[in-house]
Amino acid sequence: MIGIVGAGITGLSLGNFLEERGVPFRILESSSRAGGVIRSSRVEGRVLDHGPQRTRVTPTIAGLIRSLGLEEQVVSVPPELPLFVLRGGRLRRVPFTAQDLLRTDLLSPGGKLRLLREPLTRGFDPQETVGAFLIRKFGREAYENLMGPLFGGLYGSDPGEMYVRHSLAETMEGFGVTRSILWAFLRGSFNRGAAPPAVSFQGGMADLTDAMLERIRERVSLNSPVKDLERSGGSGWLLRTGDGESLECSHVVLTLPAAGAACLLRRQAPGVEERLLRLRYNRLVMVHLAGERLLHGLGYQVSYGEGLRTRGVTWNASALDRKDVYTAFLGGARDPGALELEDEELGEIARREFLGATGCDARVLAVGRTQVPSWDRSWVALDGMTLPEGIHLATNYESRVGIPGRLARARELADVLSAGTSGR
Ligand SMILES: Cc1cc2nc3c(=O)[nH]c(=O)nc-3n(C[C@H](O)[C@H](O)[C@H](O)COP(=O)(O)OP(=O)(O)OC[C@H]3O[C@@H](n4cnc5c(N)ncnc54)[C@H](O)[C@@H]3O)c2cc1C
Repeated sequence: MIGIVGAGITGLSLGNFLEERGVPFRILESSSRAGGVIRSSRVEGRVLDHGPQRTRVTPTIAGLIRSLGLEEQVVSVPPELPLFVLRGGRLRRVPFTAQDLLRTDLLSPGGKLRLLREPLTRGFDPQETVGAFLIRKFGREAYENLMGPLFGGLYGSDPGEMYVRHSLAETMEGFGVTRSILWAFLRGSFNRGAAPPAVSFQGGMADLTDAMLERIRERVSLNSPVKDLERSGGSGWLLRTGDGESLECSHVVLTLPAAGAACLLRRQAPGVEERLLRLRYNRLVMVHLAGERLLHGLGYQVSYGEGLRTRGVTWNASALDRKDVYTAFLGGARDPGALELEDEELGEIARREFLGATGCDARVLAVGRTQVPSWDRSWVALDGMTLPEGIHLATNYESRVGIPGRLARARELADVLSAGTSGR
């Protein structure tokens, strides 16, 4: 029996993959609902997503969508939609081709010339941050106007605090960058047509997790917080839940956030507990807005130095055909103070800054708070970490944050567990 703690997308996809492989498992979830940070709601007939807004369709996700019979519910993001960066109070289109790069008004002529030095620069050092690396390669202007906001926006993080080896290195590998990033860009590796398409679902991202839950419903216990983890017999483990039930397992997979996983490992692996507690999370504010008109595009990130609290806005309206919905992100590592403000004030700031950037007035639909692993310098805590035999982490702080990464990790672990080996 495999015991899985947490029914977010990692726990649910691992359950689905184990089911396909005929491996017995049980998922214990503390909340009354599955999906974890993936949560969709309806407000005044509009679909709002309170976690991820969309996912890239890798072959694994395409297979899952097919096997769950979700094809009809898929809403695809048009690949040609422009993405913008707000700089100097104006939205400017992000270049994805060599021609666009020559024409872009996000960089001065000097800033563009500076890019040409990149192929002559060396690769990253183990102790180099993403910020220092990108400035060294492309110059400060390209970093602050383009690369910093776009890359940091993925994590709500400050690239100046993230090591390349923990984050950007894997992204570059994914884009097929071997030596020069500029060269890969000119070859078209960054063209959005080259990337797997991005999608959501008619009822929001929760359509995916709801369907995954449905398929393995009898193996998932909701309202079952795991409170303790102890050794059982020889090499097995016992998971104890809040209501006094216990589950005996040969392997335990922890998919819950770092602080919760640390708590469960306190008695059995105090060294691991101490490491997990050192990982920092970025706290984010999400403000859903109903805009008074349709803006054409994916949305925008805010360049450094604009003096705004908004970090970026997703235009769900045109990206996902979601009526008049726009989702603003505030806070994160570069503005932790935003989280101290009241919801009403945050909603008003998001509305005002959105109006200033786009000229489109809006009404606040919802204000929420969430958090994501920062993947910053604190990730050195995981260097050389080993887990007790039979305990596995499958989490967005141990492997990639995005949904494709979560599914890839779940599938890899399902293969390891079904082969009866101990894996990592
Ligand atoms: C705001 C935001 C925007 C994002 N945007 C995107 C995006 O656009 N595209 C993309 O690909 N990715 C995006 N991501 C990343 C991606 O959504 C997450 O990494 C992924 O959904 C995390 O899933 P998980 O199952 O690993 O963890 P979680 O969703 O955190 O699930 C963990 C589960 O464990 C449960 N749990 C906690 N403690 C216990 C306990 N003691 N016992 C039992 N259960 C417990 C929790 O209730 C939860 O259900 C975003 C994330 C956030 C937060």
